[in-house]
Order: sequence, then structure tokens, then C-alpha cells
Amino acid sequence: MDRLLRRWGRLLPSCPGPRRPPCRLYQHPPGRAKRLALSRLFQPQNLREDQPAGPESGSEPTCKSQRLMLRTGLLHPAGPGCYHYLPYAVRALEKLVGVIDQEMQAIGGQKLDMPTLSSAELWRASGRWDLVGPELFRLRDRQDRDYCLGPTHEEAVTSLVASQKTLSYKQLPHLLYQVTRKFRDEPRPRFGLLRGREFYMKDMYSFDCSPEAAQQTYDLVCHAYGRVFNRLGLQFVRVQAAVGSIGGTMSHEFQLPLSIGEDTLAICASCGFTANMETLEPQQSNCPVCRGSLTETRGVEVGHTFYLGTKYSSVFNAEFVNSQGKPSLVEMGCYGLGVSRILAAAIEVLSTEDCIRWPGLLAPYQVCLIPPKKGSREEMAVKLTETLYDDITEALPHLRGEVLLDDRTHLTIGNRLKDANKLGYPFVVIAGKRALEQPCHFEVWCQSTDEVMFLPKQGVIDLLQKVQVV
Ligand SMILES: [Zn+2]
Repeated sequence: MDRLLRRWGRLLPSCPGPRRPPCRLYQHPPGRAKRLALSRLFQPQNLREDQPAGPESGSEPTCKSQRLMLRTGLLHPAGPGCYHYLPYAVRALEKLVGVIDQEMQAIGGQKLDMPTLSSAELWRASGRWDLVGPELFRLRDRQDRDYCLGPTHEEAVTSLVASQKTLSYKQLPHLLYQVTRKFRDEPRPRFGLLRGREFYMKDMYSFDCSPEAAQQTYDLVCHAYGRVFNRLGLQFVRVQAAVGSIGGTMSHEFQLPLSIGEDTLAICASCGFTANMETLEPQQSNCPVCRGSLTETRGVEVGHTFYLGTKYSSVFNAEFVNSQGKPSLVEMGCYGLGVSRILAAAIEVLSTEDCIRWPGLLAPYQVCLIPPKKGSREEMAVKLTETLYDDITEALPHLRGEVLLDDRTHLTIGNRLKDANKLGYPFVVIAGKRALEQPCHFEVWCQSTDEVMFLPKQGVIDLLQKVQVV
């Protein structure tokens, strides 16, 4: 060991090398919270022009959310149906995962993380290796073993639970979920994150000791999905759906009504019946429940629930010990939420043609502060804006890390406000003409309500007090 250390020691330079200048992303006045400076963010953007359709983006059709996310530096194209998620997008995505975690764990969900490489053996056992077509990404390792990049994990999670030989009915239900990257070799990737080849999904699998208990779990998860969309302020429709290659006996989709949606939904105004058109008889124009007339609307599928019964537990012999001490097959359900798709669909629903609007909880940053332009008459208010920044983050600890200082003071306030408007910070606070009044008044733009008001410092802090963060 000593010899090794000595040898490594010889490899180490004797002087510490050039000293790195301190990172200026955080301007850190002594004794106060760090300030986030916008000029230091990595955000390759094209705010003033349309993103040219480069060779990387392919020629897929675009939609509003894709255009806005590319233009504002949330995404960067990396190949057909694949994107770099840039820092703003990752912040929003992590907040969305936070909301989903809270709602899944509120109903007893336990988070795990399963391998993306899923062995063909598992998929052959369930029959899906042959059943699923070319959308399954398949690959072979150096030992000539076949794998797929798992688009869904019924096989993996059921064999995991089956390996627990002493599972008792007293321990059930188990609700196991993960939020991971999934892969689908889409024939026509398009609309950015709405139909990509690589995406984030939350998939949950439930294990119950009876069909009745499994039905209760199914309803519980559907309610939790409703709460996720309600908290995001997104109107959704829950419709009956076909079970497809997942299988099982009952299935519902959660759809966001959107004209670019690829699904057609049938809605009965008289009794509230809703279904994906693909589950109805062709040309059916009357409600199968009350015979009332059906209206059609387009939707984007953002969630899907399946009642599976013992379809997978019988294949992998996933059993528990019942109250009579006998082994019995678990009753299963599975539940997906398209995480990256929800993010894009929310932007699609809420934004204008030019400006992103977020569900408040998902905004990458809640507040953007804009000090005056360098050399302007109000320049001395730069210091006031910095003090406001420090006072906000000191008085409101929940907003630490949520306040950006747009320190690009070579730009006019108007230009920076335009950028802030496009990025959709819920609150933009400007030190403009009334900043030099006694007392100083800041101009506050509430982007969700389009209100503009002039407030003294304490007024700004009182207003921001109510901002909710995940
Ligand atoms: Zn009806």
C-alpha cells in the first residue's frame, strides 16, 4: 500500500497548478444567500428567431410546445425523436417528478429503479418478445444474449416480486413505481417531447391479495392521477380504452384535450360517458350507455391505467401466502404517466404562440428580477435590486434557488422583459422608473394573470410569500 501511495504521489504535481477563478454563477456577498445570475446559465437559445430546421432535428412536423422549447433553450435536438434536456427543462421536469412522487407516496407508493436493459428471457416468458413489433429497441450483448430497452416493466417487476417467497397477505398491497427513461422506436417521432423515441415515464405496478382489493387500488391510483393534473391546473378527461399489448381486462386513459392530439375521444354530454373512439364500434355515433349523441374531441394521452389480474403473476408465479396459509397468485394493476409528455402537453395547453406559460408549480424559476440598464438614469437602483434579491431569499426560505437576477445590464429593461415574458417566469420584478422614488417602488408582472402592479419592497415580499413550490 505504501509503495502504491508513493508511486501515485510521484504522479501528482508538486504545485497546485493554476488557480481557478471563483465561479460567478453565484455572486456571494459575505453572510448572505447566494445570488443566481442569469448571464451564467447554460441556455443556448434563439429567442428572437425561429429555430432553423437543422439536420439534427430531422423534418418532423413541429407544434407550439416543440417550437417554444427549442427557441427558449429548454431543449436541443440530438437526433430523430431525441433531445438534450437543458437546465431550465430539467428543473421543470424535476418539479413535475416531485409532484408525482408526493401523490404516489400519499397512496402508499414505494419508489424503486429497475434496469433499462431487460432480458429477452423475461419477455419471451410473457410472450411479448414476439407480440411487440419493431417499436421495441432490441440489442445483443457479447455473450449473444438478447435484450430490449424496456418500454414498460411488467415482466421485470413481476419476476422481482415472485422472488420474494415469504410474501404474506398482511404485507399487501405493494405499490411499486419508478420514474425512468423509456424507449420506443417510433416510426414517426414528432411534436418534440409529445412523441419521442426516448422519454421519461412514471410506471407503477400494484400487487393485491384479491380482485376486490386490486379494484380498490385501481380506483385509488386513478384518483391520485386526478390530483396530479388538478395541482398542475390541467383539465383532463378519463376515458375507457383498449388494453393493447399490455393486456388485462380493464383500462383507462387520461387525456388532455388538444387539437394536435392523435387520439379521438367520444364524450356523451347526457350521462358523462367517455371513451377512446378505438374502443367503440366503427361509425358509432350514439352513447352505448344512454343512447345520447356522442361528440368527438382530440386528445393527447398522458396517463394509462390497466387492471391486469393474474396475467403476469401466473407467468412468473408471483405468489403470496393467504390468510389460510396457502400460496395464492397476486392480483396486479399497472399505471403509467408520460412525464416528459405531460411537461410538453402542459406548455402546449397553457402557452401563447410566442410565450411559454407554465403550471405555476413547474416554472423552472418562480421570480426573475430585472435591474436597470447600465448607464441609464436609474442605474443606482441596481444595488436596490440586489438588496431586494437578498431580502426575498432571506425572508422567504422556500424561494431560495427560485429567484434569478437578470444581470445582463447591457440590455434595456424592455429587451430583458421580452425574454422573461417568453420564458414565462410567474413573477417578473423590475427596478424601472419608480425605483428612485422614496420609498422605492418595483414594477411587478404576474404572468399568470397578466396583472402589473407597483409595490414597495415589503409589498413584493408579501406577494411572493404565497408562491407555492414543490
Ligand atoms: Zn350517455
